[in-house]
Amino acid sequence: MRAPTTEKPARRQTLKSARLARAHWLYSIEDVIALYLVSRQTVRNWMRYGLKAIEAQRTLFLGQDLNEFHARRRKEAKVPCTFEEIYCVCCKQKHSFLIEPFTVGQKGKLFTLVSVQCPETGGRTTKFVRESDLRRLRDLQKRNCSAQTPD
Ligand SMILES: [Zn+2]
Repeated sequence: MRAPTTEKPARRQTLKSARLARAHWLYSIEDVIALYLVSRQTVRNWMRYGLKAIEAQRTLFLGQDLNEFHARRRKEAKVPCTFEEIYCVCCKQKHSFLIEPFTVGQKGKLFTLVSVQCPETGGRTTKFVRESDLRRLRDLQKRNCSAQTPD
């Protein structure tokens, strides 16, 4: 992996499947850790973030609640991109044109095809960008570059 050149936003963990848990089963914290391959702290974070738990002698989760929680997380992650962002089909996250180097491709009348290489998977993802947005991007990039010492 490359060293980040600008301050990166905290990278969101990969979203979990909303169909992994059996709706009517009960899961202990250990079961949840094993099911989603996450740490105890992650499960605690999920609870803080609204994952319903049953407080018995030990904390239990209903499968249906686990699935609903992850379905909600997936829905929330579907926030439209801003002009400087691209949704990556490779890693299902957003990348910023201001962080990842982009390549300008095919030019249309109103839009230009711009692509970035996914830093996670190495795949390529593309987006049509308006001419005016491309100019804005280049201006922002120039400003970023001059504000930093190149490595
Ligand atoms: Zn990606």
